Amino acid sequence: MTRRRAGSLAFGLEIMTERQEPSQRAVPVKCNSCDRPMNSRLFCADCRTLHPADTLDHFELLGLKRTYDIDVGELRRIYLSLSRDIHPDRFSTRSEQDSGLSMRISAQLNQAYQALSDDVRRAEYLLGLMGGKSSVEDKTVPRDVLLETLTLREEIDEARLADDEEALARCRGRVREHYDEALAQVSACARELPGTEQTRQTLRTRLNTIKYYQKLRALV
Ligand SMILES: [Zn+2]
Repeated sequence: MTRRRAGSLAFGLEIMTERQEPSQRAVPVKCNSCDRPMNSRLFCADCRTLHPADTLDHFELLGLKRTYDIDVGELRRIYLSLSRDIHPDRFSTRSEQDSGLSMRISAQLNQAYQALSDDVRRAEYLLGLMGGKSSVEDKTVPRDVLLETLTLREEIDEARLADDEEALARCRGRVREHYDEALAQVSACARELPGTEQTRQTLRTRLNTIKYYQKLRALV
């Protein structure tokens, strides 16, 4: 227990148990304008200073620990609250610099929320942060996935051509099953991050795989 706490303090990104810290929020930082602790890295509620987010990753921007398992409800709550705090309407009467900054941070906040609220995109983003290869650098997909998706693709085309709603519904069910299984595999692997080189390579393959099923889902 003692060792775990020490580690958490040292690195700040370690996952704490629910009991130690029910909230997923990372350790607050101090405002460089008024020196008071801030609840977010973007906005000081005390002196109303905006802080540029250019050097922050999506997790830091939202004040979350860098981990796959996040509470999406809490993520949304944090996002909405920050969006209100830094909304460009609130800074339109201030300096041009503040107004521009609030617009830029708002856009960055939206981007971060979109990326982290989606299970697949969050795994992809986390893999990138942990030094994993991109889908351009490593296109590996298991052979059975290629065959399975090709077969399903043909069956969907045939069902559409024959106007066969029942066959199409069956295809939809099978695509859904494959997708759910692929997502479970992605999630299990993403929870192991940063893991070893092998972990990251496996996650790369699983993310490449789920993209095939995402494409099929869009068809049915
Ligand atoms: Zn301040």
